[in-house]
Amino acid sequence: MNRRIAIFPGSFDPITKGHENILLRALPLFDEVIISIGKNSLKQSYFTIEQREKWIKQVFSKEPKVRVEIYTGLTIDFCKKMNADYILRGLRTSADFEFEKAIAQNNKVMAPEIETIFILPVSELSAINSTIVRDIIRNGGNAAPFVPEGIDLKS
Ligand code: ADP
Repeated sequence: MNRRIAIFPGSFDPITKGHENILLRALPLFDEVIISIGKNSLKQSYFTIEQREKWIKQVFSKEPKVRVEIYTGLTIDFCKKMNADYILRGLRTSADFEFEKAIAQNNKVMAPEIETIFILPVSELSAINSTIVRDIIRNGGNAAPFVPEGIDLKS
């Protein structure tokens, strides 16, 4: 049987407890999950790609089924390159749903063999997003409650 490989694409700027939760809950479904940091030349990130990658590796250092990669271009092309048949995404809000629905349906036309799998956040983590975490940091607040254990956003 084919190995079940999923990619979990995103900006992870920075990784939050929401991302961590989605990934950990998806992990039993797959043989490997590749956290894929999208490098978008049109979108300025807050943290460098090296920093974001380092934190993700730190969070999942004890999970042999998790890998981290950086990619540019279309997510479906990166999936094919990684031999992944699944794209993993989280759905926090109805706005997420509308946005993700359009992308997943268009991806399905371009790459019918790839399935997008959605996981709903647990209620206590559904309000967390990287934009808010960045805002807290920018304004000198303590973002520690929103990021995985052991992540020092000042490091
Ligand atoms: P993008 O810029 O592609 O939205 P993000 O890093 O913001 O990338 O998110 C990556 C994925 O993680 C998305 O599918 C997003 O919905 C999901 N996600 C982010 N925060 C949460 C959360 N708190 N609960 C569930 N899913 C989340």
